[in-house]
Amino acid sequence: MWLVALWLTVVGNLPLWQRVASLTADSGHQLPQLLGLGVLVLALIAALLSLLNWPRVFRPVATLLVLVAAANSYFMWQYRVVIDPSMMANVANTDPREVRDLLSWPLLVTLAGVAGPALWWIWRRAPGWHPPLRQVGRNLAGALLALAVAAAALMAGYQGIASLMRGHKELRYMINPLNSVYASAALAVNAGTHAVTTLEPVGTDAKLGASYAAQARPPLVVFVVGETARAQNWGLNGYARQTTPSLAQWQANDGLVNFPNVTSCGTNTQVSVPCIFSPLSRDEGGNETPRSENLLDVLQRAGLAVLWLDNQSGCKGVCDRVPHAQASEQPVAGLCDGGECLDEAMLSGLDARIAALDPERRARGVVLVMHQMGSHGPAYHKRAPESKKPFQPECRSVTLSECPADQLLNAYDNSITYTDHFLSETLGWLKQHAAAGRFDTGLVYVSDHGESLGENGLFLHGVPYALAPVQQKHVPMVSWLSGGLQKRLGVDAGCLRERAAKPASHDNMFHSVLGLMDVTTSVRQPALDLFAPCAGGAGAAPVSASPAG
Ligand SMILES: [Zn+2]
Repeated sequence: MWLVALWLTVVGNLPLWQRVASLTADSGHQLPQLLGLGVLVLALIAALLSLLNWPRVFRPVATLLVLVAAANSYFMWQYRVVIDPSMMANVANTDPREVRDLLSWPLLVTLAGVAGPALWWIWRRAPGWHPPLRQVGRNLAGALLALAVAAAALMAGYQGIASLMRGHKELRYMINPLNSVYASAALAVNAGTHAVTTLEPVGTDAKLGASYAAQARPPLVVFVVGETARAQNWGLNGYARQTTPSLAQWQANDGLVNFPNVTSCGTNTQVSVPCIFSPLSRDEGGNETPRSENLLDVLQRAGLAVLWLDNQSGCKGVCDRVPHAQASEQPVAGLCDGGECLDEAMLSGLDARIAALDPERRARGVVLVMHQMGSHGPAYHKRAPESKKPFQPECRSVTLSECPADQLLNAYDNSITYTDHFLSETLGWLKQHAAAGRFDTGLVYVSDHGESLGENGLFLHGVPYALAPVQQKHVPMVSWLSGGLQKRLGVDAGCLRERAAKPASHDNMFHSVLGLMDVTTSVRQPALDLFAPCAGGAGAAPVSASPAG
């Protein structure tokens, strides 16, 4: 058991030791600090294994811990991620497609090298059998001894270890496999407390506003939830490359508004998507597991038709109580392959999907959410069809650190340019409906979080929020309102462009969409509605920038 613990400590934590070694290189006490922390980690792992030392339990559980440590090591090396509860929630909510994207030879080699020898040792011979009472005694004694060693190591090296851990909080999420054990336990506790509480209703007083009285056409607003798009690579934000050529046209000719200063609520999908729809701001706990209903429930309660269309790994509970569909369930030739679709597949048959909604609700108004695959990594090259990849050559490996930086950037920028194309196609569809006088249409797009593309050696996303670099939190956002919708709400386009330049965040989404749909409820805070300061203007109608009526 101590040998397994020693192996896990030394070989199963190489990324940790590399990091600690580089952090303490100039301290003059590098060796004592490494040793002190090493003994502490060894003793903690030994204490855990001691408690698990039961016949028929030890070998499978130790096997799992060894494999987890090996897999964690790989992802830490490869993408510099750390394992905290929100990363674990991501793992627990992933789907086979996402896993397939991550599989690679380097992963298998790392698993074999880090886990192999330990597994051989664990399975070499069966552990000895002792009467149950004696086994309890042995396990407790072993755990106590290990904890005593941990306490001694901590006391001996307290100064160094404490300052190191305080200064570099990410280190505590790098201790394999304790990080995964802790994160799983935290999730389980959260799920346990969450399971007994039913969702608190939100906006029980929600009603349709004055604009619905004798309306000529119902409103149709599309809310596109983007994936892994970062503001820095967004052409409209002044990126050196034109990654958003179509949206630039919509901005120049059709009144599309770009929001260059938007901050995400989380650094991963699991946190950000529920937060975008939450009535709570991030400070109020919008980034935590939802305890209440969300924006879609309020819209539906007000009497509107709501549809969530997903092209990713699901809506994270947000759409559970409204009509929802997965794009891959109706595969579109040329756009879908092997259960995975390009985002444009969501536009196929969209009119039929709208027509299938409850007719009474549809006659009042429609909110359609489209959840993109966007720039989901690490297989960026899979996010756009070959014919729509202006930036070449592109990285086609999921081992991102092996790709030349410019090829990685090309693959990522191609995915952004495809999102530009997808949004432009969606806008074209909305403009048609407006021109035909069927709906007053509008679109809001915002990405769920950003992405690291090798800055400071970081890849992908999911770094704990407080430590995350700006690339993972600064996201693109745009809005477009048909002339009819502008008139309906009395929106002043020039005013909106001014507002758009100021800082905004996912905190604004709940209130802004309620504002766009003119839903009145006591939970809607006009101060957080991005459109409110520019809406309701008397005689604001003629400012329409859209010739589409
Ligand atoms: Zn995401």
